[in-house]
Amino acid sequence: AKQTGGARTAFFEAEMNQRAEERVQMENELRAAIQEGQIELHYQPRVDSRDDRIIGVEALARWMHPTRGVVPPDEFIGLAEECGLIEPLGKLVLDKACRQLAEWQRMGFELGVMGVNISGHQLRSGRLRGYVSEAIAANGIAPGRLELEVTETMLVLDSDSGMAQLQSVRELGVKVAIDDFGTGYSSLAYLTRLPSDTLKIDRAFVVDLQDGDAAVEAVVRSIIAIARDLGKGVVAEGLESMEQVRMLGAWGCHVIQGYVYARPLTANGITGILLNGGIV
Ligand code: C2E
Ligand code: CA
Ligand code: CA
Ligand code: CA
Repeated sequence: AKQTGGARTAFFEAEMNQRAEERVQMENELRAAIQEGQIELHYQPRVDSRDDRIIGVEALARWMHPTRGVVPPDEFIGLAEECGLIEPLGKLVLDKACRQLAEWQRMGFELGVMGVNISGHQLRSGRLRGYVSEAIAANGIAPGRLELEVTETMLVLDSDSGMAQLQSVRELGVKVAIDDFGTGYSSLAYLTRLPSDTLKIDRAFVVDLQDGDAAVEAVVRSIIAIARDLGKGVVAEGLESMEQVRMLGAWGCHVIQGYVYARPLTANGITGILLNGGIV
């Protein structure tokens, strides 16, 4: 039995070593990907459901891996955060998004707002404000056209310095959206502590609306009411059916982001919509 145990331990060690090696390889690949331009942005339209017009986009990172194809953000953002690459990655995303917004501006399109996801780790270094002000200045963007999306679950917001950092970025005139609103344990506390302009209702709530769940309906209607009372914008995310659009509209939420209108598209895909009068 002792021998078997030893063999098993050796087996687990070998497997753990392999995992560690794979991780290191993935890390090195991601570092190279950032330098070599394999990270691209796709853009998902934010739509006004009253006229089907595009009123903004959210930039979503994609890793165009040479052999593995398109790697979704859920598979590399966490890694980037853990291995110290989120800062260069975040800066790259911000720069690309601002450059693209400027490009659409040059083409004569007034896209309302460009949403950019920010990781809590990006608030730690204290350099976010500098990156943001550089990016908007370099591209001639009105600060109010840029909206940073932060999740309330970002640990760093528990610290006053993260909050202060976000506040100082907001002082540039840049907007702040609370992403995945309602899913954290302290959503309501954040409303009073975290300065924000927009609440994004998480897809998890929207999905459950279909079943006529009274509690979910009450929560969603409350979020919309809170946003209205506080003078904030509200965006419903992850809508896949017109029935959901209709419900949200009846409750006063007309800004929709979801497959029902459009999936995340390439920049050219968005340009196509804009050239078509901005109707999705
Ligand atoms: P998120 O910020 O909540 O973004 C919305 C996600 O929901 C996107 O997934 C989008 O494609 C997806 N989605 C939108 N509408 C629908 C729908 O109707 N149905 C379904 N099933 N999904 C929908 P994506 O692009 O895979 O991004 C996942 C997450 O990765 C994002 O969630 C965000 O937290 C993170 N992320 C993406 N890009 C970046 C980035 O540049 N920086 C950071 N820090 N995080 C990013
Ligand atoms: Ca987001
Ligand atoms: Ca979200
Ligand atoms: Ca999310």
